[in-house]
Amino acid sequence: MSFDLNARLAVRRAENLYRQRPLLESPQGPQVVVDGKPLLAFCNNDYLGLANHPQVIEAWQIGASRWGVGGGASHLVIGHSTPHHALEEALAEFTGRPRALLFSNGYMANMGAVTALVGQGDTVLEDRLNHASLLDAGLLSGARFNRYLHNDASSLAKRLEKASGSTLVVTDGVFSMDGDLADLPALARETKAKGAWLMVDDAHGFGPLGANGGGISEHFGLSADDVPVLVGTLGKAFGTSGAFVAGSEELIESLIQFARPYIYTTSQPPALACATLKSLELLRTEHWRREHLNNLIAQFRRGAEQIGLQLMDSFTPIQPIMIGDSGRAIRLSQRLRERGLLVTAIRPPTVPAGSARLRVTLSAAHTEAQVQLLLTALDDCWRTLEPAHA
Ligand SMILES: *Cc1c(COP(=O)(O)O)cnc(C)c1O
Repeated sequence: MSFDLNARLAVRRAENLYRQRPLLESPQGPQVVVDGKPLLAFCNNDYLGLANHPQVIEAWQIGASRWGVGGGASHLVIGHSTPHHALEEALAEFTGRPRALLFSNGYMANMGAVTALVGQGDTVLEDRLNHASLLDAGLLSGARFNRYLHNDASSLAKRLEKASGSTLVVTDGVFSMDGDLADLPALARETKAKGAWLMVDDAHGFGPLGANGGGISEHFGLSADDVPVLVGTLGKAFGTSGAFVAGSEELIESLIQFARPYIYTTSQPPALACATLKSLELLRTEHWRREHLNNLIAQFRRGAEQIGLQLMDSFTPIQPIMIGDSGRAIRLSQRLRERGLLVTAIRPPTVPAGSARLRVTLSAAHTEAQVQLLLTALDDCWRTLEPAHA
C-alpha cells in the first residue's frame, strides 16, 4: 500500500529517461547563463525574439503601474479587465475570426475547448503526434477517443466513417517535436465532408508562419469554415504567456459557459495582456523577423545536410536532428554543452519510442554567425559520436 517512488525513479534513470531542469540564470535569448555557465542556446520557443524585447517589457511595466499585478479573480467574477478585453479583440481581428477568448496557458485552452465541445456519446479524433495537452484533453472529455496516423487524411477519413455524435478532429498546426505542418487543406476537406469540426492548435505557427504571422491558417489561406476552432499560445513566438481560442460568436460564448479551465481559474495579470498587445503589434508588423528567421532555417538545413545529419520534413524554426537511441541523444547533447552550446535531447514519452532527437530551435534573435557555430560544433561532435560510417 506504500509508494516506492525511489524504485520508480531508479527505473527512469536506468532507461536514460530521467528529466532534469537546467537552471536559467539570465533572461531568455540566444546567449544564456545556465547552471552557472554561459551558453549559446538553441532550444527555446521564442521564435521571433520577443521574450526579452524592450518595448514588450516597457508595455508590461506601464501596464503594471496602471492595472496592478494580479488578476484578482476569475473572468466571470471580477477578473476580466480592460486589457484582457482589448487583447481578445485584437486577437480576433488578427485571426480574422469574430471573437477570441483568452486563457491562462495553452494546456488549459486545449483542455477547455475539447472538454466543452465533446463528451460522452461524442467522438474526438486526434493525430497520433498531437501535443500532450490535446491528447489529455481528448481522454478527459469522455468522448470516444481515437488517434489517426500522423498527418494522414485517409486514416482520418476511415475513423470519421465510424464516428458517432458530435465529432471533433484535433491536430497540431506545426507539430511541436517534428516541425512539420499538418496537411490542413486535406484534413479540413475530410472533416467538413462528414459535418465534423476541425480544431487546430497552432502554438508554433503563429509568428513564424504566414505573411503577417497569422500561422498555418494564414499560410494555407483557410477560413473559419475550414477551421472552426483555432487555438494559439502566447508563450512561444509572442514571447509572453497565455493562450487563446478564436472562432465564432457561439463558440466563444459556449466556452465562457462550459470550459471549466476558463471558468475556474484566476485571470492572468492584466499587465501581461498589455505586454502581449505590444508583442502582437511587433509580431504582425516587423516582417524582418520572419525573413531573417527563414534565412537562418535555410542556412541550418544546408549545413546540417552537408554534415550528414538526419533532419525532418520541416521548414519551420523547429529543426530536430533524429538520433533514435535516447542514450546517444543525451551524449550528443552533452558534448555540445561541453563546447558551450545548449540543445535539448527530447526522449520518450515526449516522442515515440526509438525516436529520441536533438530539438534544435531557431529564433530571429540568433545571428548567422551563431548558427555557423552550431553547425561547426555539430560537425565535430557528430563525428566523434559515431566514428564509423559504413
Ligand atoms: C507549448 C504547447 C502547448 C501548451 O501551451 P502553454 O501555453 O505552454 O501551456 C499546447 N500545444 C502545443 C502544440 C504546444 O507546443
